[in-house]
Amino acid sequence: MLHYNAPITDMKFILEDVLDIYSHYEKYSDYEEVNPELVDMILTECGKFCEAELAPINQSGDKEGCTWKDGKVTTPTGFKEAYQKYIEGGWQGIAHPVEFEGQGLPPSIGIIRTEMVGTANWSWSMYPGLSLGAMDTIIEHGCETLKNTYLTKLTQGVWNGTMCLTEPQCGSDLGLIKTRAIPMDDGSYEVTGSKMFISAGEHDLVENIIHIVLARLPDAPKGTRGISLFVVPKILVNEDSSLGDANSMSCSSIEDKMGIKASSTAVLNFDNAKGYLIGELNKGLAYMFTYMNTARIGIAIQGVCSSELAYQQSLPYAKERLSMRSLSGKKFPDNEADPIIVHPDVRKMLLTQKAISEGGRAMVYYAGKLKDELIQSNNEQDKMKIDDKLGFLTPILKGFLTELGVESANRGMQVFGGHGYIKEWGLEQIVRDSRISTLYEGTTGIQGLDLLGRKILLEKGKTLRDFTKEVLGFCKSHSLISGNKHKYKMNKFIWPLTKAVLNWQRYSLIIAFKARKNRDVIGLASVDYLMYSGYITMAYFWAMMAQKANEKLAMNPENIDFYKAKIQTAEFYFEQMLPRIKGLEKTMMVDPKSLMQMTSEQF
Ligand SMILES: Cc1cc2nc3c(=O)[nH]c(=O)nc-3n(C[C@H](O)[C@H](O)[C@H](O)COP(=O)(O)OP(=O)(O)OC[C@H]3O[C@@H](n4cnc5c(N)ncnc54)[C@H](O)[C@@H]3O)c2cc1C
Repeated sequence: MLHYNAPITDMKFILEDVLDIYSHYEKYSDYEEVNPELVDMILTECGKFCEAELAPINQSGDKEGCTWKDGKVTTPTGFKEAYQKYIEGGWQGIAHPVEFEGQGLPPSIGIIRTEMVGTANWSWSMYPGLSLGAMDTIIEHGCETLKNTYLTKLTQGVWNGTMCLTEPQCGSDLGLIKTRAIPMDDGSYEVTGSKMFISAGEHDLVENIIHIVLARLPDAPKGTRGISLFVVPKILVNEDSSLGDANSMSCSSIEDKMGIKASSTAVLNFDNAKGYLIGELNKGLAYMFTYMNTARIGIAIQGVCSSELAYQQSLPYAKERLSMRSLSGKKFPDNEADPIIVHPDVRKMLLTQKAISEGGRAMVYYAGKLKDELIQSNNEQDKMKIDDKLGFLTPILKGFLTELGVESANRGMQVFGGHGYIKEWGLEQIVRDSRISTLYEGTTGIQGLDLLGRKILLEKGKTLRDFTKEVLGFCKSHSLISGNKHKYKMNKFIWPLTKAVLNWQRYSLIIAFKARKNRDVIGLASVDYLMYSGYITMAYFWAMMAQKANEKLAMNPENIDFYKAKIQTAEFYFEQMLPRIKGLEKTMMVDPKSLMQMTSEQF
């Protein structure tokens, strides 16, 4: 069976030591009560819930899948009961406003909940997970009536929300959306059209589903400038907040998919369904970015989840499975053969998984800390700066961490040899479940274009300059000239990181220069550039973790092995993974000619 143990020691190391999270919480009066005891309690209780309730129904959920009958979707056995316990525990609204019956804790805590729930059972986590973006969108852009009608039930988890963007003819290019919204005399709209691939679009966990739908008015401008955003409930809500009639919409089918089989992926048909405008007309896509940014960070976490879950299965297997002898002599002479963990190639796979899981975790928790700052900041200029930084990091987190999550899942399967291909062990499920993460919420290609086209070139490299300044500042304060106590120990990280960051700046400038003459340069470079940026960003977090682990070791802590393993994993990352940027540097800088010269017919 797929097992899960919440990696609480690592989570606390990142929060407390790397991110200095309690000094950060102290800055904000809203987070006055967030102290180590409270956070420890949340981590422990959430971990217990995920280990006991969600992990045991992960494989059974995959096997059983969702079923569709007469427009209704039934989730696999145990999903409903686990969901009930989840909402009774108040987990859904943990980081949402008290005003709407949330617990008002910082988003950085919400992200940890999302990670634990998602690692234990990604398919199950999509039902409450999609709802988070709906809540954020209504909080940020909805009028008071929308907030009062929907937020409390969503925060409690009694209702769920969905994100309805995709239509049969369009996914990446939302300018092609055809769903129509006709204004009614009472201020509502009649929404008509077909949406496909809607996660949690129909299911039996909650009594109402609140769809957040992109549609256009008949006279709206063409393309993305003519898209508006609507709340379309599955069941209409009366003025006294009770449930009314069913809205005019249906679920005509669910998809038969490669993975995440326990997550319902619905085709929804809206047929003059009653909808309510969010914000202003024709600004829907901008509002939807609130949803998409929440969801993109959520999917970046899926990269960490896939990696962690695969690692947690493959590590004990590698310690038990016997095969041949270590090349450097018997390591376990009393055994008939050595366990496969002695072999360098197996170690490389395991360390790659560990580096991805822990490095990715640090990256997404850092994003969580930024989200806290964004919500709490009262100064418009500061807010813009934080928003820009989060905007810059989001495609890197989403694109890079999901690609690495898939890699880690595959490596986990490889550690199992042929047994990894057999369902019983669950590794093939992790591989199948992880594969969607690079596709939905904007493919890696779209993340690459967002990063290079919008966040770097359109903003003239400003956010890159700000972020690299921070990394170089870290390098400076831990370099040989810094006078820092651990400078010699840090030298092996600081020098390659500094060099990589300076090259990152330099190559970005060259690409910008070349793109002035030929726009295909952007398309050619974008995915490689995204991965390149990801490896350097992750190196920053590994260097920070190594530095904190060195500091801890100097204090003679109890769990010495944990800190030693941190430094050793950082060394592995810098020696075995960061050098991947060398290949990417080459491929992202070549002339697009060899890519573009072939005509469609010549392919
Ligand atoms: C299981 C599942 C769950 C989903 N959940 C939801 C959901 O809840 N809500 C929702 O609205 N949608 C959802 N989706 C849809 C998903 O977000 C889209 O499938 C995804 O955004 C890609 O769109 P597409 O499938 O239309 O691919 P396309 O846009 O047709 O892209 C096909 C290929 O072309 C590339 N491409 C496209 N345009 C460009 C370009 N300009 N430059 C370079 N390359 C380009 C893409 O990277 C991709 O490789 C889900 C999909 C699946 C499979």
